[in-house]
Amino acid sequence: MKVTVDRTLCDGNGVCMGIAPDVFDVDDDLTLHIADEIPDDPAIQAQVRQSITSCPVLALSLEE
Ligand code: SF4
Repeated sequence: MKVTVDRTLCDGNGVCMGIAPDVFDVDDDLTLHIADEIPDDPAIQAQVRQSITSCPVLALSLEE
């Protein structure tokens, strides 16, 4: 599982970080950082999928 972000859309609101804090982090400059490796953990992967559908600007995409 790999997640990518469209940085032209992401405004750093942190919704994804709130849902999947092990994978997403928004820094003080409102830049989103995504973990290089998403843990092979069904609970975390479910959080990632929820983050993708919950992003207000649909900036996240999943590459299986
Ligand atoms: S929820 Fe979407 S817009 Fe907000 S920080 Fe995450 S990717 Fe960016």
